[in-house]
Amino acid sequence: MSGFWERVANAVLIAVVTGMLLATLGAVTTLVIYVTVLLVLVVRHRRYLTILDRWLQTDGSVLPNASGKWGDVFARLMRLVREQSRTYQHISSALERLQRATSAMPEGVVILDEMDHIEWCNPVAEKHLGISSGTDTGQHITHLVRHTQFAEYLAAQNYAEPLVIKQPRHQGLILSLQFVPYGDKQKLLLSRDVTQLERIQIMRQDFVANVSHELRTPLTVIGGFLETLSDHSPSDPETFKWALGLMTDQTKRMQNLVQDLLTLSRLEDTQNLIRGERVDVPAMLRKIYDEALSLSSGRHHISLNLETGTQLLGSTDELRSAFTNLISNAIRYTPDNGNISLNWTTRDGQAVFSVQDNGIGVEPEHISRLTERFYRVDRGRSRETGGTGLGLAIVKHVLSCHQAKLEIVSEPGKGSCFSAWFPPVRLVTPEGDHACTILTNI
Ligand code: ADP
Repeated sequence: MSGFWERVANAVLIAVVTGMLLATLGAVTTLVIYVTVLLVLVVRHRRYLTILDRWLQTDGSVLPNASGKWGDVFARLMRLVREQSRTYQHISSALERLQRATSAMPEGVVILDEMDHIEWCNPVAEKHLGISSGTDTGQHITHLVRHTQFAEYLAAQNYAEPLVIKQPRHQGLILSLQFVPYGDKQKLLLSRDVTQLERIQIMRQDFVANVSHELRTPLTVIGGFLETLSDHSPSDPETFKWALGLMTDQTKRMQNLVQDLLTLSRLEDTQNLIRGERVDVPAMLRKIYDEALSLSSGRHHISLNLETGTQLLGSTDELRSAFTNLISNAIRYTPDNGNISLNWTTRDGQAVFSVQDNGIGVEPEHISRLTERFYRVDRGRSRETGGTGLGLAIVKHVLSCHQAKLEIVSEPGKGSCFSAWFPPVRLVTPEGDHACTILTNI
């Protein structure tokens, strides 16, 4: 029955009962009965209201005993409470999952309110920005990330591009920061560690600048000569020959540079270790020794000591290039009549190729940087002797592809010793290896 008809039926019932009571018991008794019934009803409702009040103060898990309409009311309330608690659990587990996922992100995430106060941040953001979600919640973000550019970026409200800054609280850390507006004037602040990327970018810029600089000098020389020659062809054949000679030198210099650049780029492509073939190092060194003699043209005393016949697993071409670079450096940085010795030996289970000279040597502060591309102690001397500044960078790459290490010991004015140490895993010992050969041009 609908509510309306129920109410009509109740009214009719009360009217009939009242009529009957009035007719049989009289008005006073009827009134007393009604007052009594009303009192009972008031007491009953009060009791249930008290039960409801107490029930609302509990977690609502146990349904109170009630009959009639109150029973229905409690049952309905119970259903509502259960639904609400299910929704609550669902939302809180979704929130927990979201927080766990955000915490696992490699990027820092900070949630800011509409006034740019911190509401929440993940552990990566704590590390990047030096903030703590425990103690810094509610703080204005610019009070904690103190950087003029950052404050300007926030105020400008143009967040299409990220802002790259050096984190003042964390030396050497470069961050990319970006605001992402959402909801009602709220923002996410995303932070990313771009230190490595920025370093690569700087290295790339330096590299391009260095290569351009290296190429510009010979090109200027050649261009200058060609211009002069095309304007007034020299009548003197000696001058002509001299100009051609210089142009040839500069062309050779550019060829060397391009050759070294190609070698470096090939080695950088070889991310993996070179497995390669069996390399007969003693045989290779004998050939390199002959080349060294011709490069030095009798200006140095050069000796070759082959104390072992140990061979290597690797690339013949790359190893030859590395060894040749070390030897040509020794010849170029050792004054005439100096001594240079090439040694192939084994020490502590490793094979060592070393080039020892008594040349100009290197000051200690330069030693750790010698293998950087284009790093030279004396730019003039390197250029004069046909250096590209890439030789030791190539040596380092070749050795690292062979799991080998470069050791540099040097003293200014006394000489240098460059040693390549090859680990046991790279060594092959031929049968009957008792070879000990000493070659010298003294
Ligand atoms: P470069 O083409 O300039 O020789 P390298 O990369 O081969 O380039 O060497 C880097 C720098 O290391 C050289 O410019 C030189 O200053 C120094 N160097 C290398 N080998 C020697 C050596 N045997 N004696 C002294 N200095 C050396």
